[in-house]
Amino acid sequence: MTPIIRTVAEMRQLARGWKAAGGVVGVAPTMGALHDGHLSLARAAKAECDRVIVTIFVNPRQFNNPDDLTKYPRTEGADAALLATVGVDAIFAPLPDEVYPDGFVTSVTVSGVAEPLEGVLRPGHFDGVATVVTKLFGMTLADRGYFGQKDWQQLRVVNRLVRDLNLPVWIVGCETVREADGLAMSSRNARLDPASRRIAPALFAAMAAAARTIRAGGDPAQTLAACQDRVLAAGFSSVEYIELRDAASLGSAQGLDHPLRMLAAAWAGGVRLIDNIPV
Ligand code: AMP
Repeated sequence: MTPIIRTVAEMRQLARGWKAAGGVVGVAPTMGALHDGHLSLARAAKAECDRVIVTIFVNPRQFNNPDDLTKYPRTEGADAALLATVGVDAIFAPLPDEVYPDGFVTSVTVSGVAEPLEGVLRPGHFDGVATVVTKLFGMTLADRGYFGQKDWQQLRVVNRLVRDLNLPVWIVGCETVREADGLAMSSRNARLDPASRRIAPALFAAMAAAARTIRAGGDPAQTLAACQDRVLAAGFSSVEYIELRDAASLGSAQGLDHPLRMLAAAWAGGVRLIDNIPV
């Protein structure tokens, strides 16, 4: 079985030994309840690095909703079994007190790219993400960090953070892994009841159709409005946003001549789903 490391001191010692031997250390931060999307990050890291650490830490500071934190699935035994099949070198799964000991008062705030969309709807979320990612890189001595495009805004925030703070970590963004019906894999999908699970793929289907329409010259505002109607008609209880944004800055989309991203958040049966696709 893969060793499970609980303390920063042990994690550092292990990583220092690997690096002293010239090893490149790849790290995939996760909150556990692992699925194929997470495993794709671990596999990409395996292919490109000498040593791979998957971190499992349900970071209390990135939950703006206490109920979401309480209900977040925790499945460490199954996670370890899955990671053993990939052959990662270590699982770093510290307890909250190890990450945030008494007296902890420092926070990393990214402006700009972290402000719209999830930044508005989940106040404090990206501060929590930026802080924990900075800490996890310091704890694991990461050379390369693996993140999913599933959380596109998070990926852009981490890219910005690493550049702005001169962190010596190369960020790799891995493609979104989907179920056969198109639903983006997510730990939160486990909370969908059967009826909501049936309607959930409609989000990606509507977005993909809208992206095709926009690429073919359709009016973006009208197309996005129709997309939202289609998601609601499928049975989603609400749509928080479906927007077209500059893919890098997440600022408003200026013309169709440079990369754009369509991003969405919507609720199905009490579960908040997010997705995004290139346009
Ligand atoms: P989480 O455990 O949800 O915090 O996700 C940990 C990492 O896995 C993040 O970088 C996510 O973007 C990535 N991830 C989650 N779901 C997927 C997916 N379906 N495809 C690719 N990457 C994913």
